[in-house]
Amino acid sequence: MESQVQQLRQAFRSGRSRPLRFRLQQLEALRRMVQECEKDILAAIAADLCKSEFNAYSQEVITVLGEIDLMLGNLHEWVTAKPVKKNLLTMLDEAYVQPEPLGVILIIGAWNYPFVLTMQPLVGAIAAGNAVIIKPSELSENTSKILAKLLPQYLDQDLYAVVNGGVEETTELLKQRFDHILYTGNAAVGKIVMEAAAKHLTPVTLELGGKSPCYIDKDCDLDIVCRRITWGKYMNCGQTCIAPDYILCEASLQNQIVQKIKETVKEFYGENIKESPDYERIINLRHFKRIRSLLEGQKIAFGGETDEATRYIAPTILTDVDPETRVMQEEIFGPVLPIVPVKNADEAINFINEREKPLALYVFSHNNEVPVGWELIMENIVLILFLIIVPVY
Ligand code: NAD
Repeated sequence: MESQVQQLRQAFRSGRSRPLRFRLQQLEALRRMVQECEKDILAAIAADLCKSEFNAYSQEVITVLGEIDLMLGNLHEWVTAKPVKKNLLTMLDEAYVQPEPLGVILIIGAWNYPFVLTMQPLVGAIAAGNAVIIKPSELSENTSKILAKLLPQYLDQDLYAVVNGGVEETTELLKQRFDHILYTGNAAVGKIVMEAAAKHLTPVTLELGGKSPCYIDKDCDLDIVCRRITWGKYMNCGQTCIAPDYILCEASLQNQIVQKIKETVKEFYGENIKESPDYERIINLRHFKRIRSLLEGQKIAFGGETDEATRYIAPTILTDVDPETRVMQEEIFGPVLPIVPVKNADEAINFINEREKPLALYVFSHNNEVPVGWELIMENIVLILFLIIVPVY
């Protein structure tokens, strides 16, 4: 690993990755790779997550192509030095801000959207003129293999390298000095990454998880709300970082919500969900058993069927969930949706504020007056998706 990082550093120091023309060429090569090898990429994602071509294309490939086009369209302006206002100390100088590449970047990808979560940071790192080591997740082994095969065929091999492997390889990589680390995954490993980075004072970007709540107000269009929650929760079998993790609502709304989500699930996935090409599977047996165990002792209002052989877990709703139970203590990251009854919006706000910061928050209400409490939460959350549902489709 050490010699590999050294080789990349030498290539970076040669200055080859810096010129705008070189960066654009590499980005165009990456776009060619995605377009020419689309079938192989979609097949790898299907093998990892049992994902249909349409879902894999719309959830992963489109975003990567969009990111590349964004860079190709704007990079010229973004790399240009921008003059800055002078002050007493700089009045005799030529003062400007010049964006600079950092050096050698480490990208550690996650398995849940194995293509886009590795490629999107790569696009940015190349656009910024860096050398890059890419470490895809070992859990999505088919996508990792295809990335290791394809990237060297299209990109400059002295500047961009793929390292495949698990904890052992990543631990070894993290001993090396990088100039930035981009990590996507769970918070426990996030702490390991940050600790390793601190030894070299390397800056990090950590894309972590959390329990993202939905608050459903009495005053809303439940049909639309339930459609949206069904889509966001069961897409990728619940294995999405900003998927609605749980619902907070008045107890009297629970039955209606269950009924409407049930109807929408039938519309989206048909009578026999197991046969639906649009319903994915849990990534591995460890995660399957973890999610299945969250159902123990719960009131299952819908779903609950599991099949270990195929790692199938049906879209599931739990009602009257006790906040002290395990399903409410950890990020679910699977197709299980607990409903926790609260008396009103104020109680929901307190409930959320008492817990770890979520990644996203979904508020469904016709009431355009944002209650003060939601504003307070918004100041405290890293990313807020504040959705006020208006009666339009
Ligand atoms: P994972 O198991 O694939 O782990 C992520 C990476 O960490 C892998 O490349 C793996 O090799 C590495 N890793 C694992 N254990 C390690 C160790 N002990 N030392 C060093 N490296 C190690 O993915 P995961 O963590 O299960 O991913 C799911 C989590 O990621 C969820 O919490 C989800 O919310 C979060 N996530 C966040 C975003 C975001 O954009 N914020 C996007 C996707 C997923």
